Amino acid sequence: MSSIQLIDRYSRQVAVIGREGQEKLAKARVAVIGLGGLGSLVSMYLTGAGVGELTIVDYDTVNLTDLHRQLLYREEDVGKPKVEVAFKRLRDLNSSVKIKPVNEALTEENAEDIIKDADVVVDALDNWMSRQILNETIVKLGKPLVHGAVNGWYGQVSTIIPGKTPCLYELVQVRSLPQCVGYCPVVGPVVGVVASIETLEVIKLITGIGEPLANKLLIIDGKNWVIDEIRLSRVENCPVCSKYLKNKK
Ligand SMILES: [Zn+2]
Repeated sequence: MSSIQLIDRYSRQVAVIGREGQEKLAKARVAVIGLGGLGSLVSMYLTGAGVGELTIVDYDTVNLTDLHRQLLYREEDVGKPKVEVAFKRLRDLNSSVKIKPVNEALTEENAEDIIKDADVVVDALDNWMSRQILNETIVKLGKPLVHGAVNGWYGQVSTIIPGKTPCLYELVQVRSLPQCVGYCPVVGPVVGVVASIETLEVIKLITGIGEPLANKLLIIDGKNWVIDEIRLSRVENCPVCSKYLKNKK
């Protein structure tokens, strides 16, 4: 795509973030971990926004119960692997974005390999076990992580910059993540709100524009429209940070 076409396509966005910001997006590599409610929407927005490369990671198939919030998928996709469907839809949305599908769960074995080339990583997971693996990996590799989680009418977002902000382990000492048995109940648009804020964080981190939610946890109550911002501070002797950031200041 020529640079004139590029400006044409993104003109409404370039008017806000500038040509330089758009070029930074076009060079950026983002890894979205999880392609459920949060991940499917974040992937759509990032593809629309024109990031250079998008790695999408999920091992699951599309379920009928996903469709009220995971708007990337359709009825005809039920039973198909999410990354396969997402790859096709995202490519159709913006052919200039390189989409890298990974049809696997995030594990201790593959996490480093999946994340090592990313400029920004997005937490779109739904369970603490995988988030622990993700947290260890981003701290070890020094990659910024945009964390998001939803439950019911509630959502939360924070941006983690290893060595500069509390990591996810420290964040859960302040506010525990939604504990869901089997599945997390959620109202669809709450996922949309949280996914949009997560995507904005990614765009801000890549372009260097604005203030990211670093050292802050944004909590959204979509039922009563209460939006809280909790200040986060580092936990001394965090077992994850002290393991990997000992010699880094
Ligand atoms: Zn930590």
